[in-house]
Amino acid sequence: MYNIGIDVGGTSIKAGLVEDGNITVKSSRDVRKACGFKEVIEDIEYVIDEILKKKKIKIEDISTIGIGIPGVVDKTGCVNCVNLGLKGDPLELKLKEKFPNIKIVVENDANVAAVAEYKYGSMKGYDIGVMLTLGTGVGGGIIINGKPFSGAHGIGSEIGHIILDSNFYTCNCGNNGCFETFCSATAIIRYAQKLIKEGRETLIFNMAKGDIEKITAKMVFDAYKKDDEVARDVVRRFKEYLLKGIMSVIHFIDPEVISIGGGVSNASDIILEGLEEKIKKRVIYNGNGVAKIVIAEFKNDAGILGASAL
Ligand SMILES: [Zn+2]
Repeated sequence: MYNIGIDVGGTSIKAGLVEDGNITVKSSRDVRKACGFKEVIEDIEYVIDEILKKKKIKIEDISTIGIGIPGVVDKTGCVNCVNLGLKGDPLELKLKEKFPNIKIVVENDANVAAVAEYKYGSMKGYDIGVMLTLGTGVGGGIIINGKPFSGAHGIGSEIGHIILDSNFYTCNCGNNGCFETFCSATAIIRYAQKLIKEGRETLIFNMAKGDIEKITAKMVFDAYKKDDEVARDVVRRFKEYLLKGIMSVIHFIDPEVISIGGGVSNASDIILEGLEEKIKKRVIYNGNGVAKIVIAEFKNDAGILGASAL
């Protein structure tokens, strides 16, 4: 029997057949522009069908299909996702109707990434772990006693929307001061743009060939390594708020491990430098130990691997 993991993203739906923690067959399909519940179901069926054809197996050979969704998933597997046009649609129920003999599980994608790290990667061997995905936004995934946790209403792992301070721009969620407006790639870019608009001179501006819309988080980290003053200010601010966000997680959940993933985690040397010492100083009591900070192992495949293990 096989497990299939499906990673539903904002631009594509990717699926994989997972055997012993390895993805042996993959398929994917681009998300259509006018997307809604019907289209998502069709695309999921399509990627499953492609996997079966490529592996030359039947649907009866599949025991579990896990699905990660970039949205809020409630206890009954109903899904809300603005980007995919899903508004409380019963995704899990619909797929159970289509595949009655297969275990179907739908989870939020950040929780799915946490499951991948827990089962196969940087959080393996720990019972209580938190994954922070620093990408376009900040995703949060919580593992408690080996299971993903998202609270009573499916929003309990939205760590990116913990409010840390007031900020110069408002979060997509409508609140001001969310963790993700300080520590996502978007946050890093926006703060660099702000300093440039204020007249500061920086290598970042040259790296973006004079177009501040082309600035990336990588450019900021590259300039930081060249001792660029603006990049140093941007990184100092990013790290200060990352520490605040992590301290909030520690004082609320007290995990054994916090794994940092997402595109920003490519700058792992800069992120980890001095972080654990600062945490030990700031935590209210460190006599019993404190969360270990690690960098996530999986990049693009976390969604498929984690979903297959739900
Ligand atoms: Zn927010």
